Amino acid sequence: MNKPPIIWTNVILFASTFLVAAILVPWYAIAVGFTWTEIIATIVCLGYCGMSITAGYHRLWAHKTYDAHPALQWFYAIGGAFALQNSALHWSSDHRVHHKFVDQNDKDPYSAQRGFWFSHIGWMLREYQSNTYADYSNARDLQNNKIVMWQHKNYLVLTVATNFGIPLFLGWLTDSYIGMLLSVGVLRLVLSHHFTFFINSLAHIWGNQPYTDQNSARDNGILAFLTYGEGYHNFHHIFEYDYRNGIKWWQFDPTKWLIKSCSWLGLTRNLRVCPPDRIEKAKVQMQLKRAQAKVSHLPDAELVMQRLEHEYELLMEKMHAYYEVKKVLLQQKKQQLMQQYNEFDLKQQMLEVRRNLQLQQKRWQQLTAQFA
Ligand SMILES: [Zn+2]
Ligand SMILES: [Zn+2]
Repeated sequence: MNKPPIIWTNVILFASTFLVAAILVPWYAIAVGFTWTEIIATIVCLGYCGMSITAGYHRLWAHKTYDAHPALQWFYAIGGAFALQNSALHWSSDHRVHHKFVDQNDKDPYSAQRGFWFSHIGWMLREYQSNTYADYSNARDLQNNKIVMWQHKNYLVLTVATNFGIPLFLGWLTDSYIGMLLSVGVLRLVLSHHFTFFINSLAHIWGNQPYTDQNSARDNGILAFLTYGEGYHNFHHIFEYDYRNGIKWWQFDPTKWLIKSCSWLGLTRNLRVCPPDRIEKAKVQMQLKRAQAKVSHLPDAELVMQRLEHEYELLMEKMHAYYEVKKVLLQQKKQQLMQQYNEFDLKQQMLEVRRNLQLQQKRWQQLTAQFA
């Protein structure tokens, strides 16, 4: 089969930045040395790029897991261009196709079934998507978003302005142009690229599948460290409308922490989460499936299988009862809160009308006293 033509701009960009990061950056580190300012600036910019992709491109625009204040959207739009991963519109449209047709080699743009290299970077090096490249029909909502469209139209200018402008500005501030260009410019870009690419490659190959085995997505705590929490990809592929990827408090998901903290500042709203009973049920179903597969090899398979199924039914029943009561309790708490709020409101009103009455009584007394 003939392979589609090579996209030379991408090949040259990925190869040259990688070579500079792999050869020139270590050489400079040994020969001249990076200052702490350069190292910290690199980490901050790396985080800015990474989180603009994970919290902005991915969880906000591709999946609409929450609403964000325009100020935050501008912040993401600039950071996304700095990360050099195409416009938010293009990225999100691709990503929606990835979720819809995951693992289908002819439709999933970065199907992990075509191997590590293809899903990591290979899919961007040739014109595999030439027919559908500018088809954004699955992202009409984003086409109505002024910030997304502004970024899409000015993408090239923005990438050049951020990728050269930010390192040069920092270089001017610290009087170290070469150091900043190498660290904040190139090293940051290469790390940011490959850390994000791991979500398409490694997060579909390496890790476990606690929630579903209907697709190749995996949960992987180590990858979560490099991907700002996106390593919990198995959870994400089944509950994609949840703003969290790592749902346990101990799971490393700084993207979730960012979105949640922004909600306290009024910058994010309507954070969507999947009902906990659905998550628990998916997990138990997978456990049953795994146990059944193992049991089928045992000599008394039928008996053990029956017991498994019986216990599973019981667990489901009890789980259902538990979550029903929990739901009622939550509703009651909400009502109580509303009542307290109303009470507070009434008390405030009472204070006001009493003050008004007292004032008027005083005026009345003063007035009638004149004619007494
Ligand atoms: Zn996704
Ligand atoms: Zn995926």
